[in-house]
Amino acid sequence: MRRFLIAGNWKMHKGVGETSAFIEGLLATDPSPAVDVVVSPPFTSLPTAAMLLTGSKIGLAAQNVHWEASGAFTGEISGEMLTELGAEWVIVGHSERRTFFGETDRTARDRARAAQQAGLKVIYCIGETLEERESDRTFQVLESQTDGLGGLSHAGLVVAYEPVWAIGTGRTASPDQAQEAHAFVRGCLERAFSAVRAEGIRILYGGSLKPGNAHELLSKPDVDGGLIGGASLDVESFSAIIRAAAVCAAGE
Ligand code: PEP
Repeated sequence: MRRFLIAGNWKMHKGVGETSAFIEGLLATDPSPAVDVVVSPPFTSLPTAAMLLTGSKIGLAAQNVHWEASGAFTGEISGEMLTELGAEWVIVGHSERRTFFGETDRTARDRARAAQQAGLKVIYCIGETLEERESDRTFQVLESQTDGLGGLSHAGLVVAYEPVWAIGTGRTASPDQAQEAHAFVRGCLERAFSAVRAEGIRILYGGSLKPGNAHELLSKPDVDGGLIGGASLDVESFSAIIRAAAVCAAGE
């Protein structure tokens, strides 16, 4: 019932020229209609990406959004500004925002709420650090990171479970570790919303997801897609992950 979603997080990579080349290449691969696909270029590449993606089924995400619609917030960007540029999605609460820019659960929730008010769909990132996992606090962390999500709309909400120790490290959660965390997060979403609504919310896995491990991770019942950093920067590897999701969607 949940469609796979494969989302690429480009982080601070690809200016306008590289964005055009990537999107033209991706469109030429004719991504599977059975899989939802989203790319998230830097802000400066959003208009170019939006123009090239017009008429395609590939969605466009921004990587951050402010919680106010306008005001004295130097360096920030509002939901309305993003929709004006053609974005339909936004990534919120990524661990790099939390580690380097002081993002907290509170600010992430505020950003997500503002994004939804502006009509954006939200990919809301959570995940434990290595130290938290090794001290058996993974579930406690996931519970507190999802606490309060019930204040958001379940419609257009996607949660990305991204263990911090797996992001950009080449170290991936095993399929069983991912399934265990995703099932736990789904339980948290049931409490935040309802069992029926939680069943419909997609939970993506993120953390060194690559063509070589995509099928085994995406085969797990509560893994509904991926948020992909490094491997989303190359058309070949990104489209190989989309193909792996299409194979899983076909039940193979
Ligand atoms: C990410 O940044 O969201 C991510 C999952 O990165 P990577 O795939 O490179 O680990």
